[in-house]
Amino acid sequence: MTTIGILGAAGRMGQAIADVAAQAGVAVAGGVDRAGVSAKVAGQPVGTDVAALASQCDVLIDFSSPVVLGAHLEAAKAADRAIVVGTTGLEPEHHALIDAAATHIPILQTGNTSLGVTLLAAVVRDVASRLGDDWDIEIVEMHHRHKVDAPSGTALLLGEAAAKGRAVPLADVADRGRDGITGMRQPGHIGFAALRGGSVAGDHQVIFATDGERIEIGHRAESRVIFAKGAIKAAQWLHGKPAGRYRMEDVLGL
Ligand code: NAD
Repeated sequence: MTTIGILGAAGRMGQAIADVAAQAGVAVAGGVDRAGVSAKVAGQPVGTDVAALASQCDVLIDFSSPVVLGAHLEAAKAADRAIVVGTTGLEPEHHALIDAAATHIPILQTGNTSLGVTLLAAVVRDVASRLGDDWDIEIVEMHHRHKVDAPSGTALLLGEAAAKGRAVPLADVADRGRDGITGMRQPGHIGFAALRGGSVAGDHQVIFATDGERIEIGHRAESRVIFAKGAIKAAQWLHGKPAGRYRMEDVLGL
C-alpha cells in the first residue's frame, strides 16, 4: 500500500486529495501548508515541516505554488521519496529544477491529472500531426474566479501536444493572449484564450479552424474529484519506480 503526504494540504486540491484517499483506502501520512492556515488532513492538523512529512510517506503529492516547488523537491530528494507535481504556473526555471531532481528521485509532473484530459492530449497531438498550417489551432479555457495563473496548465499541456504533433517548439508559435492591434494571425501559431468566473472546475476546448470548416474537441471537468483521483493513481504508479521524470501518459500506458 502506498502512503501519501500532501503538500498544499489546506488548499482546494489538497483537501480533495485527502477526501478521495480516505474513500480509496490510500494511507495519508499527513499534510503541509504555509504557516498560519487552519485545516486538517486525515484527522490531524496540517503542519509546516516538509522534511518530516517526506520521511513519513512513500510519495509526496504537491498541489501548492511554484514559489515553494524548489523546497519541496529538495525535501523529497533528501528523504529519497517520489513526488507528484500537480502545481501549475511553472516557468522554465521550475522545469529545470524538476529535471535536476529527477536524476535522483522519481518525479511525475503534469498540468492535469485527469484521465480524460490525458487522452484528449493524445488525440490533439494526432489531429495536429495530420492537418497542415492552413488549419489554425486555438485553445480556449475557463476556470473558477480564484485561479491565479493563465493560460491554465492544462491549456499549455494541450498546446504542447498540438505543437508536438506539428514538430515545432510551443514557445516559437504560442500566442498567449491578444489585445489591441495585434496584426493578422500568423500561420502555424497556436493561440490561447483564458476566461475566469464562478466555480468552473476546468473547461478546455481545442479548435482546429480552416476555410469553411472547424473541428472542436474538448473536455469539461465537473469537479476536482477527477484531478484528485488521477493524482492518487499517479502516486500509486510512481511508488517504487526508478529515478526519472515521468508523465501522466506513462501512468496510462499511452
Ligand atoms: P489553492 O489556492 O486552493 O491551494 C493552494 C495551497 O497551497 C493553499 O493552501 C496555499 O496556502 C498553499 N501555498 C501557496 N503558497 C504556499 C507557500 N509559499 N508555502 C506553502 N504553501 C503554500 O489552489 P488549488 O485550486 O488547490 O490548486 C493548487 C495548484 O494546483 C494550482 O497551481 C492549480 O493550478 C493546480 N491544479 C492542478 C491540477 C492538475 O490536474 N495538475 C488540477 C487542479 C489544480
